[in-house]
Amino acid sequence: MLKKYLLAPGPTPIPPEVLLAMAMPIIHHRSTDFIPVLESAKKGLQWLYQTKNDVLILCSTGTGGMVSSVNNFFSPQDKVLVINGGNFGERWTKIGQAYGLNVQEIKVEWGHTVKPDEVEMVLKNDPGIKGVFVQASETSTGVYHDIRALSRIVREKSNTILIVDAISALAAYDLRTDEWGIDIMIGGSQKGLMLPPGLAFISVSEKAWKMSQDAKLPKFYFNLRKEREALAKNQTRFTTAVTLIIGLDESIKLLQKEGLGKVFKRHETLAHAAREAVKALGLELYSKESPSNAVTAILAPKGLDGQEIYKNLKDKYGITAAGGQGQAKGKIFRIAHLGYADIFDIIIAISGIEMVLTNMGYPVKLGSGVATAEKLLLK
Ligand SMILES: *Cc1c(COP(=O)(O)O)cnc(C)c1O
Repeated sequence: MLKKYLLAPGPTPIPPEVLLAMAMPIIHHRSTDFIPVLESAKKGLQWLYQTKNDVLILCSTGTGGMVSSVNNFFSPQDKVLVINGGNFGERWTKIGQAYGLNVQEIKVEWGHTVKPDEVEMVLKNDPGIKGVFVQASETSTGVYHDIRALSRIVREKSNTILIVDAISALAAYDLRTDEWGIDIMIGGSQKGLMLPPGLAFISVSEKAWKMSQDAKLPKFYFNLRKEREALAKNQTRFTTAVTLIIGLDESIKLLQKEGLGKVFKRHETLAHAAREAVKALGLELYSKESPSNAVTAILAPKGLDGQEIYKNLKDKYGITAAGGQGQAKGKIFRIAHLGYADIFDIIIAISGIEMVLTNMGYPVKLGSGVATAEKLLLK
């Protein structure tokens, strides 16, 4: 028997309370059984997003939310700026180009974080830039970009909006939508929200809604102005993912029970322990600055293939972590501490890494990473 442990940066494990809620017989999306659930989930999302803005719910994975933040707010040839420091930053560029935007990039070396001054300079030199696209947590490199500093810069510009892909950051980070003035923020169900894949969330500020009035790109399924009208009446335009929304309502209730501050603190504590444990094994983080509290990206030791480490964790020990993406493929492996994650998920991950590296002939002192984590995680 091989017991399975899911420690990937999405999909993430699902709490039993949420699984049970989703196991109930299906109800109709226009029924009075469902409307209060949708209303409650809608308010719960606003709580998690720390916003009074609309937070719309889309039936798609996170990328659908990314796409809808392009085709609902921009017109062909619009100039936008993408912070590209990883696989998901690259995705912003690809989506923008697919929709005919004039995409300019700030390329950030993988493993590093964007310098807000550089963004400020580009915007100052080119007031025609209508949108700045960034990841909060760049999952492919395990780096957190300073969203607070970026929002401070963009909110000064009356014709530019900030679009944040917070798909792996939501619930892991204190992202203050209203206080900081984040115009658009995207989440996904299968990460910090402890749900199966299939929902995307998108908050929209008044400034962004204004921009949407002039946006000429085609839209039908992802038409956010229409979604907004429907959600105001606690409805969805089309048949929605009823089961996932029932789960969403439950998972937000669990987060509310814990308290927002404690949720963030838990992610911070777990991430810190994971990083220190990895270093205690003589390994190096791939993130050279601002390592993410959602996922830890680890450089494979010299001579070892990151994909092999990932594969061995899975095949030998039942631990699904993650390998590298894009240019980091083979060079790194990643472990998540996101969503329904607690102390012993870190212990399992670190213990698994110690055992796999030993199997692969890399010298580690068994138990030394685990001991480091235990010391940091003692209650
Ligand atoms: C997971 C993830 C996505 C979206 O991926 P989907 O597979 O479409 O859900 C986008 N951005 C980041 C930073 C992610 O971690």
